[in-house]
Amino acid sequence: MLRLARSRLDRVAEYCAVGEETLIRLSYPRRTLSATIPLRRDDGDLMMLKAWRCQFNDLLGPTKGGIRFHPGVNIDEVMTLAFWMTLKTALAGLPYGGAKGGVQVDVTDFSTMELERLSRGYVAAFASILGPDTDIPAPDMYTNAMTMAWMSDEYSRTGRGNPLATFTGKPVSRGGSEGRSGATAQGAYYTFNRLREELDLGDENLRVAVQGFGNAGRKFCELMSADGHRIVAVSDSSGAVFNDDGLNVEKLAEAKRQEGSVTAFSGSGIQTRNADELLKLDVDLLVPAAIPNVINAETVGSVAAKAILEIANGPVHPEADTSLSDRSVAVIPDLLANAGGVIVSYFEWVQNRTGDYWSADTVKDRLEKRINASADAMHRASRDHDLDLRDAANLVALQRLSKASQSLGTQVDYT
Ligand code: NAD
Repeated sequence: MLRLARSRLDRVAEYCAVGEETLIRLSYPRRTLSATIPLRRDDGDLMMLKAWRCQFNDLLGPTKGGIRFHPGVNIDEVMTLAFWMTLKTALAGLPYGGAKGGVQVDVTDFSTMELERLSRGYVAAFASILGPDTDIPAPDMYTNAMTMAWMSDEYSRTGRGNPLATFTGKPVSRGGSEGRSGATAQGAYYTFNRLREELDLGDENLRVAVQGFGNAGRKFCELMSADGHRIVAVSDSSGAVFNDDGLNVEKLAEAKRQEGSVTAFSGSGIQTRNADELLKLDVDLLVPAAIPNVINAETVGSVAAKAILEIANGPVHPEADTSLSDRSVAVIPDLLANAGGVIVSYFEWVQNRTGDYWSADTVKDRLEKRINASADAMHRASRDHDLDLRDAANLVALQRLSKASQSLGTQVDYT
């Protein structure tokens, strides 16, 4: 997985002068620590859980990336995600490198006490390599603000550096930032608006389909709907709902909250269908906001959307990218489209270090400025080198990493 992800950079480096040493540096994770976390279940059973933290690259600053609790976690996935974080923070212009962490565990039947023990156990295993100036975790799959509060609390017991600035995505009442919980959707919304003109989608309100109605997907629907766009389809893991006249997002969210699925939403003009049908809709904008690789060699042929905005990480498989590009379907890549979370995490870290806390409006304003600057840089690279947006995003990130690498000296300086 890591080799495939890393090879994507070679084709970009071919076009433009990116130092060879940068590519070499980005071929090897700087440090990956493995641990086994002993976890006592509520019934007395003892589990021994595999866990990792990878700090992929710190050329631009301390490393940053989430921690996930998921049965599919493995060392290759952790390293690949840490590699992508290295590119994401570089593209967003943040003073961070990339990291990721995870525990191989299914927590769906865990009690709150078990989740707390696991979170504290993770910190006990990895505290020696975490810190505000070295590596700063955040929430990811099956971890949340409360996980970060437990972790920060556990870290404070070790007597090491600033425990608030060592974890981001914390509750606002424990040093979190205003605007962090909705930051990913907000960032995706700003990204879309900044690039809309370039996508050739016209001035009319758009027809939008969103796969995944979780934290990010739901908030994105709310923002788009408030601007007058029509959310014509939404799905979650149990199915999809469609309405060509547009779904009422507020009522849909209420139905999901009460019944646990979007398919519980009913009314005039609303149809329920298989979740996969959503990908085939002829819409202006398709927004995968659920799981990776949903648009792949098999499904890409039936994608009829004019443009795709990637809120999920890696929803378009590399094999499908070429086909979309050949058909002029613009893909706004995850590297920028879902960077709102890490950007506001950076704001949280700054606030924790200075003790100066910002209003929700200040956070939104600064997020929009950062997203716009990154979107403009990506678009310029795309236009100047005739690259699709994903390659352009990789190029901008690579150029920033290359400059930092070269400032430490290259072969020329030493011979
Ligand atoms: P979430 O768990 O809150 O929501 C995920 C949603 O996807 C759920 O509604 C789930 O039912 C749905 N889903 C799962 N499988 C599906 C399928 N096969 N078809 C349709 N829907 C399906 O997660 P989230 O926080 O909203 O994150 C969504 C995606 O965005 C993930 O890929 C995540 O990695 C990415 N992302 C999230 C953040 C963030 O801050 N939330 C940041 C960066 C990237």
